[in-house]
This record gives sequence, structure tokens and C-alpha cells, in this order.
Amino acid sequence: MHPLLEKLLSPGPVITDGAWGTELQARGLGLGEFPDAWNLTQADRVAEVGQAYVQAGSQIILTNTFGANRIRLGDHSAADRLAEINTRGVEISRQAAQGHAHVFASMGPTGKLLMTGEVTADQLRAAFSEQAQALAQAGVEALVVETMSDLEEAKLALSAAHETGLPVIVSMVFDSGKNKDRTMMGTTPEQAAQALAEAGADVIGANCGQGIAGFIGICQRLRAATDRPLWIKPNAGLPTMVEGRAQYNTRPEEFAAYVPELIKSGASFIGGCCGTRPDFIAAIRRVLA
Ligand SMILES: [Zn+2]
Repeated sequence: MHPLLEKLLSPGPVITDGAWGTELQARGLGLGEFPDAWNLTQADRVAEVGQAYVQAGSQIILTNTFGANRIRLGDHSAADRLAEINTRGVEISRQAAQGHAHVFASMGPTGKLLMTGEVTADQLRAAFSEQAQALAQAGVEALVVETMSDLEEAKLALSAAHETGLPVIVSMVFDSGKNKDRTMMGTTPEQAAQALAEAGADVIGANCGQGIAGFIGICQRLRAATDRPLWIKPNAGLPTMVEGRAQYNTRPEEFAAYVPELIKSGASFIGGCCGTRPDFIAAIRRVLA
């Protein structure tokens, strides 16, 4: 195991952070506005999100760089600011952490599908490589390839991220099938865990897509299929739409009540995805205390 991961995990389960997108919306990010661009224009508000998580007890916080790969930035006419957006993202989270939390960098999907030929494997790999290098140069401690629906895209991102020499977490979204235990492309937790372990992921995870109750079974199945540490970040339930915005209805205590079972099921890193807030992290911390 990578020495950083060993150091983090030896005392027990590690608390990560909650959502950034929904927290930025709460601070004025408009519908359809590109969150990562706020690293350049609203750095103080981005920093507030990181600070709130650290104060709530996050031992790891991510960066506001989920969409900062060349392909997705291109959709927002911001590809020429790629290096800047990623670098500032890392700087903002490091300043927010003040040494009280580790900073891992978020790398989300490109939003383009390999399967339909919208994008080639070479283009995906190049885009992830460019982002991973920018994040690594800015001084991040690990890379988190997250919210992946396509195992092939996830493996390309992993291979690109690995070239930095940093530990790499790869986290898939299981939100499809009648039991919500498959990715959009039909991949099961067993298939994902095996393929990602074989491809060298340091940590394997599941995030987003559904509320925390559904993650217990997914976590158990990942655990049975791999000995790698597991990274788990569920949503705060399923959203209802209120005036065009997703509203998440699970309460922090409800969410945190599932955490002991998640740990029993093999989770090593625990936090939240869409709709979770600093008070969710505080609730997890109380449950683990
Ligand atoms: Zn999410």
C-alpha cells in the first residue's frame, strides 16, 4: 500500500468530505454555471466550502476541479485556462485545509461517450493526463477519479493519473439496473473491483447515484471482490426537483446512522456526494467518536 494511505488508514476509517457542487450552489453558483471556473472568479466562496468541511471533521478534502479536463472545459469555452483552474483549485483547498486535512484532487468524467465514438480512447487519455499533471504539479497528495459510469473511461483516467506517481482512487457510480447495483454501462461491483485492482488502482470506490442505504450491498460486494481499501461517498438520498434545482432530503443523522454498517461492510474512506453538507460530516464524526 502507498505509505500515505497506510498512514491515513492505520488508526481506522477516514472521514472525507461532502459535496462541493451543491455547496457552491448554496453560495450563489447559478444553474448551468460551471463550478470549476469559480476557482478564478470566486475563490473565497470555494475556500469557504473546504474550510467548512475541515471544521466539521473531514480528514481529507477534495478540490473544485471535477470538470477541469480539456474536453469538459471545452464545452464551457475555458480550455485555455485549464492549468490555472486546476492549480488554483489545489491552492484553494490547501489554504482551506491549513495542514489540518489532506488534499486529494477531484477528476470527474469528460461527459463524452467512448461507446458512441463521440471521443476516442487517445483523446480521453490525453485529457486526463493533462489534468493529472497540472494537479500533481500544484502539490496535491492523491488523485480521485470519481463519478465514473464507464469502466473503460475510468481505466484510461487511472492510467493517466498513475503517471504522476501519486496514489489514485477510482470511484464508480452504481445507479442502474433494477437493484441499482450496476453502472449505466451495466458493470457490476465485482467486475469494477477486479478490473480496477488489476489496472493498479490504490483505492476502489463507489460514489453518487443513490442514497446511503443502497451502498451497504455495493460496499460488501466490492469488499468481497478486492482487498484494496474502499472509498464510499453516497448521496443524501434521491433528489426531488424544486424550481429546477435538485433538493436532497436525507438528514445528517439519518445518513450517519448507516456509517457503522458501512464500516462493517468494509468501507475505509467515508464521506458524502451530492446533497451532503458539512453537518453530514460532523454527524459521521459523532457516530465514529
Ligand atoms: Zn454526486
